[in-house]
Amino acid sequence: MRASLFHEHGGPEVFEYTDFPTPEPTPNQILVSIKAVALNHLDLFVRAGIPGMKLEMPHILGSDISGVVKEIGHSGIEGLEEGQKVIIDPGLSCGTCEFCRMGEQSLCAKYQIIGEHVRGGYAEFIAVNQENVIPIPKRSGLDFVELAATPLTYMTAWRLLMTKGKLAPGDDILIIGIGGGVALAALQIAKIAGARIFVTSSSDTKLDRARLLGADFVINHNTTPDYHKEIGQITDRRGVDIVLDSVGEATWSRSLRSLRKGGKLVTPGATSGPQATTNVNLVFWNQLEILGSTMSSRSELRDVLKLVWNKNIHPVVDRIFPLSKAADAHRVLEKGEQFGKLVLRP
Ligand SMILES: [Zn+2]
Repeated sequence: MRASLFHEHGGPEVFEYTDFPTPEPTPNQILVSIKAVALNHLDLFVRAGIPGMKLEMPHILGSDISGVVKEIGHSGIEGLEEGQKVIIDPGLSCGTCEFCRMGEQSLCAKYQIIGEHVRGGYAEFIAVNQENVIPIPKRSGLDFVELAATPLTYMTAWRLLMTKGKLAPGDDILIIGIGGGVALAALQIAKIAGARIFVTSSSDTKLDRARLLGADFVINHNTTPDYHKEIGQITDRRGVDIVLDSVGEATWSRSLRSLRKGGKLVTPGATSGPQATTNVNLVFWNQLEILGSTMSSRSELRDVLKLVWNKNIHPVVDRIFPLSKAADAHRVLEKGEQFGKLVLRP
């Protein structure tokens, strides 16, 4: 099969578009013919090399995969046949630890992500555990590109907002840096949940598009760097109930200052760097909660997918690249130019 892979960590130039052996599914696995794979910020971190993480080389990135079933394997799943359109749950869990037994797969002590810890979807085929294969209902009406743009960001945003943040109708939520996958998924979920939505970006174009998707207040953090003060004014000095901050160092302290008393900061990552400074006085006096989250459980993924299948929310795709142009797609993602998902097609 053809794959965009790399033999060593580094910049986008490390990608090679080349032949690689088609994976052999084990009896528990299904071979999927990949039709599209979406990029995540995670891909940039893994390509550059995550300290302490050792990968088997060459590595193939790609966590968000859509395709069709090519080979069912020996045991098979009821209702799943060759040619069936599927997406893949990117989370791999052991199934036996205390967290897996509670149905909390993303807390699994051995949790891994397809494309991060094991080879992923920047290729023509992938062999995946059958429990990770999710058949697409016909009513979804989504094409392969939109399907690939679905799993990781929606599962992450759903757990962040609904399970961790306990977002309720009428709540105020501030989403930092609109345009990224999780931020956009969060905007759509918050809209359905009946929240009042504030977003920030350095780009007026992105802010205009966020308005079209339902953002109630947009703030350009280049022209209004003290956006927490703006939030204070709009909310009559109260602050927002929830801040979703996936930026980290660059925005952390302003995010904490945007919260109401007892408010929650939820974070799925730190694209600007992890060493943020926390004013502890602010945390205890205002009784703030800081909640980390990554990926989601299987049942949370199923919950958010229902909204996608029923067309309550629709994945936002920025642009499509051929699989051979993975390096170009990474350069766009590194510059943060995108609004929505970047997707590769084999
Ligand atoms: Zn486990």
